[in-house]
Amino acid sequence: MPKKRVVLTFPPSLVSQPVTYHLVKDYDLMVNILRGVVTPNEESGLVVELSGAKHALEGGMKYLSETGIHVQPLGQDIKWHEDKCTHCTACIPACPTQALTVDRESMEVSFEKDKCIACELCIQICPYRALEIQF
Ligand code: SF4
Ligand code: SF4
Repeated sequence: MPKKRVVLTFPPSLVSQPVTYHLVKDYDLMVNILRGVVTPNEESGLVVELSGAKHALEGGMKYLSETGIHVQPLGQDIKWHEDKCTHCTACIPACPTQALTVDRESMEVSFEKDKCIACELCIQICPYRALEIQF
């Protein structure tokens, strides 16, 4: 099923709009909220993964733009450099989505890119620069 990861920025006047409800109900999309900052009276943001048929994704994107919500593709990617990783596990507790995990038997760390929401928490923690932001 096609997926899109996007950053939605809401102007203050739209913060209380049931946007995700409309995406689900009217456009038959699955909405997975990956990250969100909602501050009353200020611009707010959501990082979401939208899944659905191609025409549903196009319809949902059009709806968001017409509503006045700024839509940007999730622009940055995290790259894990396996050759630099010492498997120290320092990053494991910080990762909110279990994109970084450790096999408890072998104590080997692995990275699942599909689960990563690019929150950058691991970047600040890794002492060996094994994790890098790519734009
Ligand atoms: S950026 Fe790092 S901490 Fe954040 S989800 Fe991705 S791997 Fe986990
Ligand atoms: S903190 Fe860095 S070196 Fe340590 S396990 Fe995570 S990616 Fe590997």
